[in-house]
Amino acid sequence: MEITVLGHRGAFPGAGEATSGYLLQSGRSSILMDCGSGVLSQLFRYIRMGDLHAALISHYHHDHIADLGCLQYASLVTSQLGQREAPLPIYAHAQSERFQSLTMKDATVGYEIQEGQRLELCGISFEFCPTIHSVHCLAIKGELSGKAFGYTADTSYSKQLSDFFNGCELLIAESSFYADQDASAYGHMNAADAARMASEAGVSRLILSHLPHFGDTNDMVAQAQEVFAGSVELAYIGARYEL
Ligand SMILES: [Zn+2]
Repeated sequence: MEITVLGHRGAFPGAGEATSGYLLQSGRSSILMDCGSGVLSQLFRYIRMGDLHAALISHYHHDHIADLGCLQYASLVTSQLGQREAPLPIYAHAQSERFQSLTMKDATVGYEIQEGQRLELCGISFEFCPTIHSVHCLAIKGELSGKAFGYTADTSYSKQLSDFFNGCELLIAESSFYADQDASAYGHMNAADAARMASEAGVSRLILSHLPHFGDTNDMVAQAQEVFAGSVELAYIGARYEL
């Protein structure tokens, strides 16, 4: 399984950047995880629309779904051009009125995911766990051939999530603030929170993502390394991780 970062920024993208988006690939299968602002233009650097099998959405905040409408248009247009055979399945929780909008005639079909469910997609086994955020949000875990990754989506520090990610090799964790800032007040984590979660989960590799627009994000690596003994890296567009 290969994970490519399509967007690593929180809230809004800087010039040439994108907010949350990750491409999961296994063999010839491709799954998009979150579809933030700028993600589509990054996605099409790697695959064509006809090769995308499904999209997985953690929650309905703009920085995770801003490009979803255009993804639906892309699916519609490529279907009409004969480059897609079936509507694109979009998996997301249904605890929002926005769930209904995931289905667009001849383009996409929304499917509900929920806590405790196991979803098999392209051979990858997914599980979901609620996070601590201002709206309902699901963290995602994916496993293939005994190798697993975790994605916190947006959350404050949560012991439940540390437990959920137990057994994962790689953790993509949101790090929206620096270690000396209280991120929990905003429903987010700082670099130390992310590192604590990685340490408790026992992962070997921590990727800090959903990065802020202030300060020097390189400082976050040092801050995380004070708490977590494994490898710590900053996510960047085009970064690829193999599992
Ligand atoms: Zn976000």
